[in-house]
Amino acid sequence: LWDKLDEELKNDFTQVSYRTWFSNVKPIKFENNKLTIQLPSPLHVDYWQKNITSKVIEYSFQITGKDITPVLVTEDQVNDAKQEQEQKQPFPVADDENNQLNPKYTFDKFVVGKPNMFAQAAALSVAEDPGTTYNPLLIYGGVGLGKTHLMQAIGNYMLEQDPSKNVVFITSEKFTNEFVSAVKKDSNGGNEMEKFKEKYRNVDLLLVDDIQFFSSKDKTQEEFFHTFNDLHKDGKQIVMTSDRLPNEIAKLQDRLISRFNWGLAVSIDEPDVATRTKILQSKAKYAKISITDEALEYLAEKVDSNVRELESALSRVKAYSKFQGTKAVINTQLVEDAMNGLDYSTKIDRNVDINEILEKVASYYNVQVKDIKGKKRFKEIVGPRQVAMYLSRELTNASLPKIGKAFGGKDHTTVIHAYDKIKKALKNNDPQIKDEVGDLKTELLR
Ligand code: ADP
Ligand code: MG
Repeated sequence: LWDKLDEELKNDFTQVSYRTWFSNVKPIKFENNKLTIQLPSPLHVDYWQKNITSKVIEYSFQITGKDITPVLVTEDQVNDAKQEQEQKQPFPVADDENNQLNPKYTFDKFVVGKPNMFAQAAALSVAEDPGTTYNPLLIYGGVGLGKTHLMQAIGNYMLEQDPSKNVVFITSEKFTNEFVSAVKKDSNGGNEMEKFKEKYRNVDLLLVDDIQFFSSKDKTQEEFFHTFNDLHKDGKQIVMTSDRLPNEIAKLQDRLISRFNWGLAVSIDEPDVATRTKILQSKAKYAKISITDEALEYLAEKVDSNVRELESALSRVKAYSKFQGTKAVINTQLVEDAMNGLDYSTKIDRNVDINEILEKVASYYNVQVKDIKGKKRFKEIVGPRQVAMYLSRELTNASLPKIGKAFGGKDHTTVIHAYDKIKKALKNNDPQIKDEVGDLKTELLR
């Protein structure tokens, strides 16, 4: 196909222009009626898109009788993809999902600033002196703030000191699944519980990520309680992360909460602009991105939510600069262009007042504030009440007990329950909740 195409296209261009736009161009894949063509530069891609693609489509149809879509890629993109694949094969990139330590999550790569200073210090003491200082250590805070990174840094540190140590990293979800599946197999005459116990009672360091998902899993909690006791008694270190404090986790057994309180709980807060700048500087250094300080500061101002967002913004800027084909140092203008039209700032000015939320929600759903604050449990009231509680947690700095109080003296677990319920609905893309919460948020933040 390509040779025939090339023949046809050649006739449409002068010699000079053919040489300019067709040398170093090669077809690299033809699959499912998609023809992937490699071009030498982004400039070529632009030109091809404007002037050549339509001809390719037309001629391919004449030649094959089929609708063929050209896909244009640059050499760089092809190389990047290759490199990524190569990197992936020899080292299985460990991540939260396959429950291995990610070798990149080290103390060296963890940037310390005001919001994570205590958490980092506590983690380092535990790494240097496992089982004696703070046991268990619990790191808690919002998403993308570095909890998993810091926890795994302890594991990587321990293995660096002594590779024979047995470090187990597991999410609470995976722990639950393993346990449930072991129980099931044993009820059919297996011996899985033995293996399960063996695995978890023989560790030197147990890292359990996101323990909030133990909520409501009674049998698993019981098993974890025993695991915890055995390890603790033997002086083995346990580290956990959570998005909230144990006593704020709904349906977590009291005996677990009390065990968790034996050690230390440290929070990681959202990074301030100074910390964000430092993190970006470090990430740019490790990723070998040349970018001016001013451009980094600009980015740090703009992306004010969490570290994960910072990372993806930086990748975006890198990709954009590559696409521009310039080899120059990335400056503020380029960052601005790359971020153009994107709303990276998901953090909200937490200046909303709970009473205002109550009023807005009441009028939106056509109910009374006093009913939201009251004890009625009709569907017409419960729904708005949960939305209002969700918004109070999202948009204000008020603590859970304080929110409970503002809602007519409700227990903080009620607030957590409502919050989780709405959050889950949003996560599952429930269209109605999404619209309603969206409307209210816009209204409240105006
Ligand atoms: P969490 O577990 O709190 O949701 P992660 O530990 O997964 O967050 O962190 C999200 C990303 O941000 C990771 O790639 C992590 O390496 C990075 N990160 C978070 N905090 C820092 C920090 N202080 N310094 C460097 N990288 C960080
Ligand atoms: Mg995490």
